[in-house]
Amino acid sequence: MSIQRLPAELANQIAAGEVVERPASVVKELVENSIDAGATMIEVEIYQGGHKQILIRDNGKGIPRDELELALSRHATSKIKSLDDLEAIASMGFRGEALASISSVSRLTLTSKTAVQNEAWQAQAQGRDMEVEILPAAHPVGTSVRVDDLFFNTPARRRFLRTEKTEFSHIETVFRRIALGHQNIGFTLKHNGKRVKQVKATESLYKRVSDLLGKTDERQLLALEAQCEEATLQGFIVNPSAPQTGQDWQYSFVNHRPMRDKLINHAIRQAFELLGLTDVEAQYVLFVEVEPSDVDVNVHPAKHEVRFHHARTVHDFIVSQVKQTLSTAAAAGKIEESL
Ligand code: ADP
Ligand code: MG
Repeated sequence: MSIQRLPAELANQIAAGEVVERPASVVKELVENSIDAGATMIEVEIYQGGHKQILIRDNGKGIPRDELELALSRHATSKIKSLDDLEAIASMGFRGEALASISSVSRLTLTSKTAVQNEAWQAQAQGRDMEVEILPAAHPVGTSVRVDDLFFNTPARRRFLRTEKTEFSHIETVFRRIALGHQNIGFTLKHNGKRVKQVKATESLYKRVSDLLGKTDERQLLALEAQCEEATLQGFIVNPSAPQTGQDWQYSFVNHRPMRDKLINHAIRQAFELLGLTDVEAQYVLFVEVEPSDVDVNVHPAKHEVRFHHARTVHDFIVSQVKQTLSTAAAAGKIEESL
């Protein structure tokens, strides 16, 4: 076969393989877009575990009519312009791939209104040929993205969808992680018309944590706040003497982005081990903030991992601060295990 350029839609579907693994990844991408748009309220509405429909509404700044089509095309982003921007990302998104990818494997409707427009407009991505139709619509300032029939045109991927219940539980996990990381935004999650979760914007991290992870006695959360030149830490370590919740209670964030970062998890576990706490599971909610230019988020398409420029320093700082938090609590008689 001779070399040929891939048709746009096929190129997008291939790219979609990287970012759109399942309904939960669609939710993640769309909610991150709403956050980047400065929304203070984000509503996530799911039908049939996302197999049928995913609907995200926000009150962010909206997309101007003449940019709707561009928003749906690949490598189109309002978030970076240059390599310098790429090296200091402050937004959640920057790849300009999510909407193009999602629309290539679903029926996507994008409705939006900016504050300077009198009316709202709607763009529908028409499957195969990627033609976009723009129609007038009714919508308050902000954006709604509706994704119907995910993977309808990629049967191999559709077959990999799990049950409604399993897919929804992945969505809940994504929702919980993102909402934990943005306490200043109100979030709602609905499934099949029923409200499953709602959290109001709050100043208090403890409030957001207990709203999302269940009521935990505040005294059982050991607050950690610390700063060094390379990083700022904030969050809670669950008192190792507290009754184990049995839940997954390991949440880490870098610049408000939920992470599955090995460095952070390793540092926290090491602190526990150094104190001889080897038979308790380390549980925590920890926010790490570094200068955007001190971290590379362009390592993984879904941005679950990052590369710290001062990896060693950040790691050791986390170890020492977690250790100190635990030792202080132990000295105050708050921890039963002897350290
Ligand atoms: P990226 O987020 O990497 O820029 P996306 O494909 O997710 O790429 O989005 C493309 C562009 O569409 C964004 O850069 C942004 O300008 C616009 N956009 C997407 N979603 C929203 C939203 N909810 N509110 C306002 N603008 C949005
Ligand atoms: Mg995006």
